[in-house]
Amino acid sequence: MADSDLLIIGAGISGLSMAHYAAAAGWSVQILEKEHRIGGCLHSHRFTGSLDGFWLELGAHSAFNSYSHLLAILESLHALERLRPRAKVGFRLFADGAVRRIPTQLSFSELLLAPFRLLGLIKTGRSVAEYYGHIVGPRNYAAVFGPAFSAVICQSADEFPADALFNPRPRRKEVPRGFTLPGGVQTLAEIVAGSSGVRVALGQTVTDIQHQGERFVVRTDSGDYTTRALCLATPVAVTTQLLRPEFPEVAEPLMEVKTATVETVGVAIPKSRLTLPLVAGLIGRNEPFLSVVSRDTVPDPSYRGFTFHFRPGRLDEAGKRDCIARVLGVPGDLPASMNMIEKLNQLPALRVGHGERAQAIDGLLAGSRLALTGNYFTGIAIEDCVARSRQEFARLQHELERICPPCVKGGTQNLRWFKKKA
Ligand SMILES: Cc1cc2nc3c(=O)[nH]c(=O)nc-3n(C[C@H](O)[C@H](O)[C@H](O)COP(=O)(O)OP(=O)(O)OC[C@H]3O[C@@H](n4cnc5c(N)ncnc54)[C@H](O)[C@@H]3O)c2cc1C
Repeated sequence: MADSDLLIIGAGISGLSMAHYAAAAGWSVQILEKEHRIGGCLHSHRFTGSLDGFWLELGAHSAFNSYSHLLAILESLHALERLRPRAKVGFRLFADGAVRRIPTQLSFSELLLAPFRLLGLIKTGRSVAEYYGHIVGPRNYAAVFGPAFSAVICQSADEFPADALFNPRPRRKEVPRGFTLPGGVQTLAEIVAGSSGVRVALGQTVTDIQHQGERFVVRTDSGDYTTRALCLATPVAVTTQLLRPEFPEVAEPLMEVKTATVETVGVAIPKSRLTLPLVAGLIGRNEPFLSVVSRDTVPDPSYRGFTFHFRPGRLDEAGKRDCIARVLGVPGDLPASMNMIEKLNQLPALRVGHGERAQAIDGLLAGSRLALTGNYFTGIAIEDCVARSRQEFARLQHELERICPPCVKGGTQNLRWFKKKA
């Protein structure tokens, strides 16, 4: 049975950043990942064969110079020079069957009052529709802002908490405002996974966790692992399921967090077949898709790539193909051999009041060697995940130092454990 100071379940950016912090502190770290690739939602599909070298994003597509925790990790790994600015092409709306410039869809008379409506308005406790709808006006919200926010978070934004959508953060001016990397944002995950001392075992689905004496025992399809501290960096639904038998009181508040599913389809098309202007993406209004993310931000000499994020359950495969051809204006049908790739994405569907739930979860974790990180605490952006991992690692470090002050490694004194299910 392999043993470690910290075992992390999930090799998305939350788990990888947690591993980076722990390994940098000298802990022995093991990550278990169910897929045969790392990155989770950082998923850059890299084509082979005739499209060798071309990639497109099936998940996250951009990081920003306000992502200070992420940038600090990249800096410590001497990787800042690998960042590439995204080409400055704009977003457009796809509405009423056509591609439209955003300003043509706005009511400027309604917008004029926005600065006054903002006065004294508090974000916390309000949904995106309540808060931003009030500021920009109901017509602008329905025509532009609602669809745009939904495109950003890949789910209907209306009921999402306003304070979990955009968090103001200081920017690092020497870093490109919006960036990606050669090979796409999955490269970020690969860089962090390369941190010295981080071990990742792929193809390891965790099915059960238990605490026995001073150790957690983690079971996968192919064997057991033991660890002094355990971190779950899995999507919230998986985390809930894994915690439920052994840590029911922590699982309980998590059960209330719903999951939004997105049916993602990426397609690579020869440039010569398209007349669509260069775009960063299209925002769908009253369409079966929430957004289309384009590769035009990283131009390629021969191909253009588009990733459609479809609302779940609306279209079958043929319907999606028709929709893609219609939106991209590809003459004739898309050939069946089209370079098309599918993925099911999942994100937490946060609701107003989630901040208090997250605080309650932190209260339950306090004093234990069980850590939770992910995109269901303060927000879903990559930076929210890394910041959460930083915070959880600091807590774990404090817990272990408290029981064994001179030597963090090897301490054996018991910490507070959760009540076992009767
Ligand atoms: C379509 C889309 C676009 C986005 N765009 C952006 C963007 O442009 N910028 C931005 O900042 N954010 C964006 N986000 C949000 C951001 O990418 C995610 O919130 C973040 O990457 C989540 O990271 P995570 O590590 O918490 O979870 P995940 O990436 O979901 O990773 C969890 C990992 O756990 C693994 N796992 C699950 N179950 C098990 C198990 N039983 N055993 C072992 N391993 C398991 C999974 O395989 C996965 O690798 C986007 C998200 C999506 C879906």
